[in-house]
Amino acid sequence: MDHFQRNAQGVLAAEEVSLKDIAKEYGTPTFVYAKATIERHVRVLREGVKDVPHSLCYAIKANSNLAILETLAGLGCDFDAVSIGEFVQALKAGAKPEQVILSGVGKRDDEMRSALKWGARYICVESIEELKALEQIACHEKVCAPVAVRVNPDVDAKTHPYIATGLKQNKFGVAWNQVHELYRWGQERSALSLIGVTCHIGSQLTTMDPFIDAAKRIGVLAGELLERGVPLRDVGMGGGLGIPYTYENPPTPKEYGQALSDILKPLGLNLVLEPGRVIVGNAGILLAKVVRIKEGSERVFVILDAGMNDLIRPALYQATHRLEKVEVSAANHAVVDVVGPICESADTFLEQESLGSMECGDLVALRSSGAYASVMASHYNGRPHVAEILVDGKRAQLIKKRESIADLWRGEFHLQGDAADSTYPLETGSIDDE
Ligand SMILES: *Cc1c(COP(=O)(O)O)cnc(C)c1O
Repeated sequence: MDHFQRNAQGVLAAEEVSLKDIAKEYGTPTFVYAKATIERHVRVLREGVKDVPHSLCYAIKANSNLAILETLAGLGCDFDAVSIGEFVQALKAGAKPEQVILSGVGKRDDEMRSALKWGARYICVESIEELKALEQIACHEKVCAPVAVRVNPDVDAKTHPYIATGLKQNKFGVAWNQVHELYRWGQERSALSLIGVTCHIGSQLTTMDPFIDAAKRIGVLAGELLERGVPLRDVGMGGGLGIPYTYENPPTPKEYGQALSDILKPLGLNLVLEPGRVIVGNAGILLAKVVRIKEGSERVFVILDAGMNDLIRPALYQATHRLEKVEVSAANHAVVDVVGPICESADTFLEQESLGSMECGDLVALRSSGAYASVMASHYNGRPHVAEILVDGKRAQLIKKRESIADLWRGEFHLQGDAADSTYPLETGSIDDE
């Protein structure tokens, strides 16, 4: 369920603001988010885990816009950061360090040192080598490091191989047969406090079975660790719950939360979830405009002003984002390819889709673009980052300014060594780079 619906005039709207009005005011392409959807997703997930003590640590990497992070902080969420950059983004959004977990498979020593000094909730280690490095840092800083261990439960998430993380051949987590040895080593170190055991088996999971398998394995493991005197406080199940992009039918957040808490409740630990996609994925769309209809010899191409540099998921994961026209037209369906302007054949949003008739200038919405979309944007092909808007009821607020062409060379130096300024070369005059 989301808050992108047609209004009385038949125009697609975000909550109570028509996307046509947003395009008029802010141009295209533009990411548009519905705050009510974010709020709803947090609420339904909480309902699922209400029977156990829990923390919802939003995975910043899904969408790190400050206003989105502030929205989530306002809803009582904590945060999962996979770099010191994300950690600081959370602090910038008003989170306290003790609300932020530092995760990631390749944390640098300086990242762990900063998180430790600031007072992170815990550092989630992924190998014995990393634990040893962290112990050194903690000793040097004369502090006791709060640690959780991400284990690799070796379960098949049955998702796209690029976003499966819980199999033995994946780089993530501590191998199942090394876990006890690692905790034994850590237990003997006074600079380490082993307060958690966690896992994260992949993203965009659409069935409960892999989560249930992982929870059962983690549950047994946590029980063994408690028996051995490991002072566990948190048991973490990561994120990964999928969303409906097209025809997927994932478990609801409530079902998911309930199933996990049923399995893990007997441990008496705090359940940590790190949802990303399920919170923001369907809370956003990418608003774009048709720049050209091109009749090729075999196919008709609808070329948008948005491309894979704005939304890379179709190119990277063969993902499909539903496309809807902002204004409905006569149902003159035709089979077309919807593509972006980038010089790559992978820059294709939809292939051989039957869509209602399209014309130059038509506005379209690429649905489910709230997660792993704007955060993966690049300047490829000389394209500035697009604007982002957060809608709350009748109010549309700019939460990221559209970049200008001058942002393409920001921070660069001329061959002679002087810094490039933001003025345009004379010939371009008053360039219209909206
Ligand atoms: C990416 C990630 C998440 C979030 O995954 P989603 O599928 O977006 O819910 C949570 N925890 C960790 C450790 C991650 O790397």
